[in-house]
Amino acid sequence: MQAMRICVVGSGPAGLRAAEVAAERGAEVTVFEAKRSVGRKLLVAGRSGLNLTHDESFESFLGRYSGDDLPIDRWRQWLHEFDSATLRRWAADLGVETFVSGSGKVLPLPVNGQMKATPLLRHWIARLAKLGVHIRTNQRWIGFDADKQMLFEHGGECTTQAWDAVILALGGGSWPKCGSDGSWTSILEAAGIRVAPLRASNCGWETSWPADLLRQAEGLPLKNLQVHAGDQARSGELTITRYGLEGGPLYALGPTLRTMPDPGIAIDFKPHQSKADLLRRMGNVQRNFTREAFRRLNLDPGTRAILKYMPGRGPWTSSEQVTAELKHCRIELSGPRPLREAISSAGGIAWTEFDENLMLKRLPGVYAAGEMIDWDAPTGGYLLHACLATGTLAGRAAARNPK
Ligand SMILES: Cc1cc2nc3c(=O)[nH]c(=O)nc-3n(C[C@H](O)[C@H](O)[C@H](O)COP(=O)(O)OP(=O)(O)OC[C@H]3O[C@@H](n4cnc5c(N)ncnc54)[C@H](O)[C@@H]3O)c2cc1C
Repeated sequence: MQAMRICVVGSGPAGLRAAEVAAERGAEVTVFEAKRSVGRKLLVAGRSGLNLTHDESFESFLGRYSGDDLPIDRWRQWLHEFDSATLRRWAADLGVETFVSGSGKVLPLPVNGQMKATPLLRHWIARLAKLGVHIRTNQRWIGFDADKQMLFEHGGECTTQAWDAVILALGGGSWPKCGSDGSWTSILEAAGIRVAPLRASNCGWETSWPADLLRQAEGLPLKNLQVHAGDQARSGELTITRYGLEGGPLYALGPTLRTMPDPGIAIDFKPHQSKADLLRRMGNVQRNFTREAFRRLNLDPGTRAILKYMPGRGPWTSSEQVTAELKHCRIELSGPRPLREAISSAGGIAWTEFDENLMLKRLPGVYAAGEMIDWDAPTGGYLLHACLATGTLAGRAAARNPK
């Protein structure tokens, strides 16, 4: 029997995984990549430590994912089939052992003190070569021809070819310099496929700080906070930036903030201390009230700057006033940072467009995987995990189901 000929577009983690799985099932696979080299965003992701997945209970892991109409039962099944332990075994098979950090992040064991993606990508490409996968770079997918065949542009020339199955893995719209620029959205929309607009996710949020605050506090961390948005709360650290705030709690609260007509957060600067504790610590402060109260409360310079310079705060004259502000400091946000700066994007191909194997119902034989689908998750390894899990599913289904 002749091998299935499968075209994978995009050489990010979703595309490479789909190629690997399809080739293991005997398909003849070619990966097309618009850039000069493969896996550019994966390499960028590894710069500050490649967080591959997260070690926690399966239910808690599953609860990190969101998205309009996310088919939760199927999502559960896919992540169960390709769970954190399976992902770690897959990395180990590539020669990349992993470890679990104190906060549950799963990272490659350091090589020369670094936890980058380079060794993993190098071993992965070698495995794909062994499996006979062809990789063609500088090939931009520009749409379908009149017969619904894939059209690629290379050096100003267009080529078209017929395939038994196609897997689209073109990524979202963040960090477009890595190749995933979201230009595929208009191609799929023209084919009648519903695509939710790509929006910045896992990104900083803007607020306009007074100049005095920025002069004293730009770049300073705000540690051990609890951040509230709507009925959600997340703990962690934020950083005061020129444009507003960055940090894990805001990334995790992004889906809630995006639904708020007037987005804003309330910070509890002392989540481990009650109002009564704080009042006790301040005692009977009288002279130089603000300076003495801030000193007794051991406030870091960033928190002091916020309490001192934010409009409508102070002058501080009573311990009750300071305590109330420390436990509930409201900061209005004007919006997220631009998509190009975000770590990932929310939005993408609507779930209603797929069958149970990630095949596009309107384009039989065409599958999709990775960040181009409408799911969202915070940082912490959940993004790469879902890209690899959906790549696994699409690769397996494409190799099994001829058009
Ligand atoms: C700074 C940063 C740090 C990150 N850190 C982490 C982390 O530690 N852990 C984690 O889980 N996630 C992390 N992420 C997110 C993670 O990298 C992405 O979610 C993941 O790479 C998405 O994989 P993908 O295969 O769907 O798409 P991508 O990796 O974006 O790959 C898509 C590929 O398709 C190609 N392409 C696009 N359009 C075309 C076209 N028309 N024709 C041909 N090819 C095309 C692109 O060039 C690209 O190579 C990070 C992201 C960033 C930006």
